[in-house]
Amino acid sequence: MRRKLVVGNWKMNGSLAQLKELGAIASAARNSPGVDVAVCPPFTLIAPARARSAGLAVGAQDCHGKDSGAFTGSVSAAMLKEAGARLIIVGHSERRAEHRESDAAVRSKAEAALRQGLQAIVCVGESDEERRAGRAVEIVSGQLAGSLPQIGEGEGEIVVAYEPIWAIGTGNTATPQDVAEMHAAIRAELGRALGGRGGSVRILYGGSVKPDNAAELFAVPDVDGALVGGASLTAKDFVPIIEAAAGAGR
Ligand code: PEP
Repeated sequence: MRRKLVVGNWKMNGSLAQLKELGAIASAARNSPGVDVAVCPPFTLIAPARARSAGLAVGAQDCHGKDSGAFTGSVSAAMLKEAGARLIIVGHSERRAEHRESDAAVRSKAEAALRQGLQAIVCVGESDEERRAGRAVEIVSGQLAGSLPQIGEGEGEIVVAYEPIWAIGTGNTATPQDVAEMHAAIRAELGRALGGRGGSVRILYGGSVKPDNAAELFAVPDVDGALVGGASLTAKDFVPIIEAAAGAGR
């Protein structure tokens, strides 16, 4: 049985003042022992967030693929771990688009996270154009095959996040049927790539998850949680999503 995982991605939002939201979010996490909950604020807020969030994991939104070196402006997984991160999102579509990250770059970032014993959340997802052309499963399966690291003994956990690009920040959510079809395809790809271990990898859905659609999405087979952008910024919106995940596990 895979535990539900709910992860907030604050993107380039937040401030020290906004960390006050973490009190109620951490309390909801402690009251939902069957659910793993994490928040990924910008790099500069990881250490202060960690100090204020008992019961809640804190993560990062990106890392470099190398452990150290002459990479101005970059941050390594080891540095993020030292700051208190337990997980790292890699290959978010905003980074794939804005920073032209390839599948190979995403894989090296995921492997860097795993080398530190952290969770690597590998994001995949098709564009609107690709879905309209009937190529969604093909595109996502290809991204996954190229981005997925190999799990080694004693290393961290791989999580996959399916995030259709057209659903991110738009208020348009994929239908439960579309999500079920894609998550089944991802599960099959995980089996091909990782053998029996593919069955234990958690697959999150992301794309305009809100308090009013979370329960329906969590009821879809092979949806093991959510990666939440806008609705993770306030406890008012994020706590009901955590509670919906707890309800789905009962
Ligand atoms: C995201 O950025 O990963 C995301 C899913 O954003 P939103 O929930 O705002 O669509």
